[in-house]
Parts: sequence; C-alpha cells; structure tokens
Amino acid sequence: MSPALRRFVGAAFVRLPGLSGTGTLLRITRLNRYVPRDYRFALGITVRRSDDLHALMTFSEKRKEQLAETLNAPEAMRAHWDLSAWMPFMCDFSVLALEYVFRYCPECLRVGYHSLLQQAPWLARCPWHGAQLRTGCHRCGAQLRLDGSAGTWLGVCKCGHDHVDDRKALRGLSDPTNVGSVCANYLAWAAQEREKTTLIAPTPAMHSIAALASIVPLPRLFWAMRPSSGHTRIHSVRPRPESEGRTGTEDATATAIKLDSLVDSRRAMIEAPGRLGHRIAATACQLAHQLPPGSLSDGEMSLFLEPAGATAARDFVPAKRRSILEIRNLPLAQVGNRCYLDLHCLSKPSLGVAHRVFRWLGLEAGKALTGAQAQDVPVCVAAVGEVLARSYAEGIRVVLGRHLPDLYRPGRNRPHLSEPWVLLRKQAGSPVKISVSWARLPYTPE
Ligand SMILES: [Zn+2]
Ligand SMILES: [Zn+2]
Repeated sequence: MSPALRRFVGAAFVRLPGLSGTGTLLRITRLNRYVPRDYRFALGITVRRSDDLHALMTFSEKRKEQLAETLNAPEAMRAHWDLSAWMPFMCDFSVLALEYVFRYCPECLRVGYHSLLQQAPWLARCPWHGAQLRTGCHRCGAQLRLDGSAGTWLGVCKCGHDHVDDRKALRGLSDPTNVGSVCANYLAWAAQEREKTTLIAPTPAMHSIAALASIVPLPRLFWAMRPSSGHTRIHSVRPRPESEGRTGTEDATATAIKLDSLVDSRRAMIEAPGRLGHRIAATACQLAHQLPPGSLSDGEMSLFLEPAGATAARDFVPAKRRSILEIRNLPLAQVGNRCYLDLHCLSKPSLGVAHRVFRWLGLEAGKALTGAQAQDVPVCVAAVGEVLARSYAEGIRVVLGRHLPDLYRPGRNRPHLSEPWVLLRKQAGSPVKISVSWARLPYTPE
C-alpha cells in the first residue's frame, strides 16, 4: 500500500476490486469521519453544497484527479473510476450524464462498496448479491443523493436513514476474489466490444438510456442480471438491407448520395431515396386509412394516398373544412418521378441520429467508395431508413394531432415521439451490424 493510502482508514483498496470513484470517496469520508466541509483540507477537493458528488466522481476528470493524487491511488485502481472502461461501446459519454444517477446494491453499500458496474443500464441486479439495484432510499424511496451539503455523511438519506454500516464497511467485502474476477471478466468483455462497437445516442437525450439494455449483447455470465423485458416503452429492431430481388430500380450507392443531403441541416426537404420513399408512402397511406372519419379533407386524403398509388375507400368521410397547408405538406411531395420528404415532421434527435449513422460511413463527395464502405452502405441505408421512416410515422401523427384532437381520445394509440439509440458493430472484414432501440418519450414535445 502506498504511504498516502496508509494515512486513511478503510483504504485497503486491493481488497475492493472494481471500486468506483464514488465508492472510494464514500469509504474514505465515512471511515475517516470527514463531512463535505472537510474535503478541501483532508482530500484536496472542493465541493459545493449543490454538487451531486456521484456525478462529480463519475464525470469530472479534475475531481477524480485531485482525489487520486491525495490518495496516491495506483493506476489500476484509478482506471476503475473511468466510465469508459465499463462501456461496451465508444461514444461521447457526456450524453449519459443526465441519466447516470447513483444506483446501488443495498448489501454492497452497507459494506461501503459501489462499482460502476452497478450503474450499467443493462444490469438490473447486483452481480454478487442478486439484489435489485436501486436509486431510491431503502426507507423513504426518495432518490438517494450523495450531495455536498456541509455536514452530511455520504450514504445518509435526507430522511435520516443510513445506508452504510461503518463497522461492516471497515471489514469491507466478504469475498473480494469473486468480486475481482467478475469485474475482470466484465472489463475484458467491454474492452473487446469497444474495439468494434460505436453508440450513436440521440442528443439531447430526453429519455432513458435503459433503451440500451435491449441492444447491448451481454455475455452469458450476466444474463441472470438483465432487466426484465417487460419494458413496453422500448422497441428494438435490427435493420437489414433489402434482399437482392427487391432492390427496385435504385442501387444502394444512389440511395446513399441522396441521403447525404441529410447532413445539410439547413434543408427543409430531401429527395427521398427509392426504398425510403416506398416505405414512407406506405406509412402515410396506412395512417390515413386509420384516421377517424371526418379527419382529412378530400384533397388531403388524395395527397396521402397518391404516392402509394392508392385511392380512398368508398365509404371515406371527408372533413367539412378547408384544406390545411400544414397537413397538405405531410405526405411525400411528388415532382415527376421524384419524391420529396418534408423534414419538418422528423424530430431533431432522430434526424441527428440519422446524420451520424450516415457520417459513420465516412463517405466523401466525389470519391469512389472503398470496399468496406460499399459493403456497409446497404446496412447503413437500411438503418437510416428505419430511423427516418419511424420518426416520420410518429411526427406525422403528432402534427395531425394538433388539428385532430380526436387522435388523443382514450382507447386510441396517442400520438407520441420516441428517440432512437443506435449501436453499430463492425468487425474487420465483415459488414457492419446495426441495432436500433426506440425509447418512447413520456410526454410529447410541442
Ligand atoms: Zn451487492
Ligand atoms: Zn430516505
């Protein structure tokens, strides 16, 4: 043990494998009797009353550095404070910050242990105790915050309930070897996954990163700890390129060139590539048929049906009002044999995700495709198509809902928006594999 560590009680970190920065701060402060107002002198870190100390110890490089320096923490221990080490994909980790509230296993926290493994949204149970991981206080249920209030012990809820047993914390984990081997297994898997996996998250993300739980391919060892799949607000898909026989008249490269204009965010419309056009036309047609009687005017109905080559049913009841421009703009606009898609009814996060899936391909204007790009274009196009088509189907209903309050009547599938989370897995030599997970937003933004 380094001399600096020896100064602190409870700092036998070799017996606490996988301990998080939050866990480290909690142990050191509890067992050495420091409250936040002492941190500056005792540990060399300053915190404000309103600071969420878990967020600081997870996302603030500066605070982690300060604590590591005071403790003279060995590199191996410091490495476990880094969220990126626990992630099975590459991404901008700041997108996770909103949702990364302190989550703990009651049994582990009692002995002063917390690991970033217990924060992973794809695990619902403690890998060592099988206990449900929680964010709320054991007694009152309110979110258990570790904040910088001057005189509070970390781990004590506002209601007074103490989640840490100092005596047990002094002894630490009862089976550090097992904890160490589970952590090592997980970290090795995550490192391997990171080499081939990229996460494209909606920004700003408004809903839960729990959406990731359904698309992260966990190793068997952790299957028993997965969240139950009873999450109806999450829907996952695996976009695949269309089979050869159904590609129609347009090849994937031509599609890619059209989608490229998505990157230009000033545009209000893009030319919808062949397959996406077909899909969107079919979506609009299906939606129009499902609307309550008297929703659309005659003219609007034909605009919804024409791109799909359909006509109104005989018993169609038109709305008794003038056409509304906002509704007329929703379906694909046909000019000659080209179709144009209005980008206004696509939500910004979806459009952003579609851009970034596309940018991942690394196409450059005027340059021929490399072999790997040519291999990946069809899958990426299918994924972009999935994102745009679903976002369009949802957006169109939200816009319609502004004019047709009937859509919000109980019993109907209310207009709503979802956010796409995309995982791209690419191994050298084989085409990219893409999964999209849609998380339904709890409310509909205007
Ligand atoms: Zn536990
Ligand atoms: Zn409480």
